[in-house]
Amino acid sequence: MQVLKFGGSSVANADNINKVIDLVKQATVIDRTILVVSALGGITDMLIQAGQAAASGDESYKEKVQDIERRHLDTVKALLPITRQSSALSLVKTRCNEIEDICSGIFLLGELSARTQDKIVSYGELLSSLIIDARLTSLEVPHHWKDSRELIRTDSRFGHAAVDFVTTNRQIFDFMKGEANTRLFVLPGFVASDEKGITTTLGRGGSDYTAAILAAAVDAKVLEIWTDVSGMMTADPRLVSNVKLIPHISYQEAMELSHFGAKVIYPPTIQPVMRKDIPVWIKNTFAPSDPGTVIAPEAAHNGSSIRGITSIGRIALLSLEGSGMVGIPGFSRRLFEALSSQQINVILITQGSSEHSICVGVDESSAAAARTAVDSAFTSEINAGTVDPLVIETGLSIIALVGEHMKSHPGVSGKMFGALGRNGVNVRAIAQGSSERNISAVISSEDVRKAINVLHEEFFETSYRQLNLFVTGTGNVGRRLLDQLQQQQSFLEQQLRVHVRVIGLANSRKMVFDNNGIDLRHWKDRLENGQPMQLDKWVNGITSLNLRNAVFADVTANEEVAQVYDALLQKSISVVACNKIACSSPYGNYRRLKDLAREYNARFLFETNVGAGLPVIGTLNDLLRSGDKVRRIEAVLSGTLNYVFNNYTGERPFSLVVRQAQAEGYTEPDPRLDLSGTDVMRKIMILARESGEKIEMEDITNNSFLPASCMQGSVEDFYEAMMKEEETFKKLYFAAEKEGKKLKFVARYDNGKASVGLHHVGPDHDLYHLYGKDNVVLFFTDRYSEQPLVVKGAGAGAEVTASGVFADILRIINS
Ligand code: ADP
Ligand code: ASP
Ligand code: MG
Repeated sequence: MQVLKFGGSSVANADNINKVIDLVKQATVIDRTILVVSALGGITDMLIQAGQAAASGDESYKEKVQDIERRHLDTVKALLPITRQSSALSLVKTRCNEIEDICSGIFLLGELSARTQDKIVSYGELLSSLIIDARLTSLEVPHHWKDSRELIRTDSRFGHAAVDFVTTNRQIFDFMKGEANTRLFVLPGFVASDEKGITTTLGRGGSDYTAAILAAAVDAKVLEIWTDVSGMMTADPRLVSNVKLIPHISYQEAMELSHFGAKVIYPPTIQPVMRKDIPVWIKNTFAPSDPGTVIAPEAAHNGSSIRGITSIGRIALLSLEGSGMVGIPGFSRRLFEALSSQQINVILITQGSSEHSICVGVDESSAAAARTAVDSAFTSEINAGTVDPLVIETGLSIIALVGEHMKSHPGVSGKMFGALGRNGVNVRAIAQGSSERNISAVISSEDVRKAINVLHEEFFETSYRQLNLFVTGTGNVGRRLLDQLQQQQSFLEQQLRVHVRVIGLANSRKMVFDNNGIDLRHWKDRLENGQPMQLDKWVNGITSLNLRNAVFADVTANEEVAQVYDALLQKSISVVACNKIACSSPYGNYRRLKDLAREYNARFLFETNVGAGLPVIGTLNDLLRSGDKVRRIEAVLSGTLNYVFNNYTGERPFSLVVRQAQAEGYTEPDPRLDLSGTDVMRKIMILARESGEKIEMEDITNNSFLPASCMQGSVEDFYEAMMKEEETFKKLYFAAEKEGKKLKFVARYDNGKASVGLHHVGPDHDLYHLYGKDNVVLFFTDRYSEQPLVVKGAGAGAEVTASGVFADILRIINS
């Protein structure tokens, strides 16, 4: 004997029912078969809504019953030949009239009891099984339809009845005795009856349970659960896009996964079959040749410590706290008794070792009843002030990692909470059973999608990680960053298993979001057709998307953009900036951003603030992290000034050389920032700060070579003023040339003091051999005391800056 159960979507309409019947016909060739069916998909919900509408005095219940009737009539008409339709149609009409009669009773009374609701919802399974019965008859497939209410006996807890297995098994046994020649049985799932024969139900999703009860009672060889997915997946496919099939899973693991929300199987289903070692096979009605999932006593090791990840929504966290609880036995017993007196199902329990509080997770719908029951059980302690009234928090969900092999793999919870922390998911409570088959955490429901995806990426490594990027700025650097991202996308996916998606793109005029990732080939059009840029809306949009591995890239030189890092870091969104404004703002602000990044587990990276794409800050950080101490830094940090002094020979006017530097993209948008030495001051300040120095711009000496007359007016005025000062520049150049030296704009940091200024540098010096727009940084440290550690190379230019930003972005996903 074998039992096959088909769920709501498998029998949702005539086409699907035909698929089911084909599968069942094939099955009966192999073995005697019990077919258990759910209501047509969505009908149970519609029946509940009709009952509820009637109870609240809303006449729309009539339309709802008509809709239900229409769904069934349409199915019958599409399924049966016309000559066979009339009796099935009248059966549907009669049953739907009964539903309407019950609803009108409810409407008059203004009350819907659990018992009446069970009666109403039972019609769903009755109708679906009777329609299938009629179809089998029309196809002349021999079978026997049987009302499950005559076989499955429960108590009278309507809505969620408990099975009386002794009576049930006896009734099934007695029935089967007389049916030795029947090859196919058809039964409605979900419904049962109590001692008095009154209709009960087994809880939402309970048709799976019906099938398991029957399978255990007849010692079936296998229980097949046919549904709309190809088996149990590593996570809910509606929440995670790259889920993987779990081919084998143990009873225990399947039970944990389903208990903690993997809806694919109703939690109590495993119990009866587990006792008899009957394997459960989860199959897809719409892809019957897919292998599906086998649930059996033991499952092969899958190479991961985790089998699956799941979640349950609508959780309320109840906390009972008070000094009166410490060291006194019996408190938890009284709490759980109070909850069980109201038949409140406890999903999760945690208690701090101080015994000062107990937290339990329950379904949100039970929270109010829990408050009344618990507060009355502890009235005297609450009055005496030794226990606080029950605290209830809602809007929560539980996420759980499940796997038999967790116990032999230390570090699973570290990995779990590390990943959640990096993504700003706040954990409200944690529980791990002593079986170590499950670790659960209570989090805000708003974070569930993000959390499940983060954990899925963390534990099922073969899939790729997603990096969600928000790029602000499409100027010289921004454009190249987007080009590089586009070129590298498939390499990153294949080699690093990172899927970089640009979810948002903005410049000073426009902004655009696309939750599926902007196609970078068309970013210009997408941005042009975007909404007008408004910085607050841009930031709100980014934070409210609440995506995992989110990175904000600031490739502007804009002051206002630099002010939003704060808000982003506080949402655990990492910030990568080539914009230097934040790091060169007052020390308090720089420090605060670094601290926020640490506090919220985000990264704040700005490698390109110094030396464009050269690994200057990264090298400095590595030195410090490994215990070295920076004594002195000597550097040429302005690609612009280096370019200008390398190209200026007293022949072509200085002003024109500067213009050329700007045209080639080597200057700040306002070149005076470079020429005045201000930009170099910012850079040496950032290096000093990164070395641990609390330093401000005012603390840095600037021996500027630029005459004051050049600093007035607009950028054009600046170029003109430089023309007039050509003699000054010539003098500077020839003074150095006479000594056989070059002009270099040098930045120094030496034991707490920083300065910038023009120097004559001779050929024996490390700073001399520096061409084009190159930068060089010499680090003199405790370990590099004789010969400095030298970082040297192209220190300006949009292409290298963009690649530095790109490298920072990748550093985040690889950290
Ligand atoms: P049926 O009506 O056939 O009983 P259900 O809707 O009860 O089907 O269960 C199947 C659904 O369970 C799937 O469509 C899927 O959305 C959901 N589901 C949740 N978690 C998982 C998981 N880990 N693996 C597979 N499906 C899951
Ligand atoms: N029809 C019932 C429900 O929707 C039972 C089931 O489908 O398993 O909950
Ligand atoms: Mg189900």
